Amino acid sequence: MSQDGKMRDDLQCVLYTSEQIQEAVASMGERITKDYAGKSPVMICILKGASLFFCDLIRHIDLPVRCEFVILSSYQDGVSTTGRVRIVQDTDCDVTGKDVLIVEDIVDTGFTLHTFSKMLAIRNAASIKIVTLLDKPHRRKVDLKSDYVCFEVPDAFVVGYGLDYADKYRNLPMVGVLDPKIYEPA
Ligand code: 5GP
Repeated sequence: MSQDGKMRDDLQCVLYTSEQIQEAVASMGERITKDYAGKSPVMICILKGASLFFCDLIRHIDLPVRCEFVILSSYQDGVSTTGRVRIVQDTDCDVTGKDVLIVEDIVDTGFTLHTFSKMLAIRNAASIKIVTLLDKPHRRKVDLKSDYVCFEVPDAFVVGYGLDYADKYRNLPMVGVLDPKIYEPA
């Protein structure tokens, strides 16, 4: 991080401001409210990255949702995927016959949610949809389509609004491209 500790200075550019994010999250919440009218979906937040998005999104959904939280692991402290996915903390919610919305910060190769949605399918969820703040569809390595997407992002490492690098930058209110000099050796 820069000497004076200003996280914003570590961004190469801002992709989405806080205002743009809030607008997109509000309209996604309205869409989900319409699509799931009369239902009580289970919303599963993938910690830690989706936490800010999840908390903002559920406040725009006018339905009796159940909120669940899981921790999955595929990335270590680096910027590229290993392809291996592990459940670090599972939900104890019985999803049998339930409509499930998985809420993620960003879908990249798709490995994480491909594996997790298969696990939920085995547990007999009635339906499983993927809700993500950001999507990198051109980076997909498995057949996985996001159902609700706020923004498609270019092939760059982004941080902010919940997304981290080495557990930092999550509390930036905007989403931006992290300057490669932060993670690339000089
Ligand atoms: P996937 O399994 O789809 O490749 O990876 C999903 C996970 O990778 C996300 O939940 C996130 O933790 C991490 N990830 C992928 N791309 C980025 C990125 O550009 N920035 C950050 N901070 N994390 C990313």
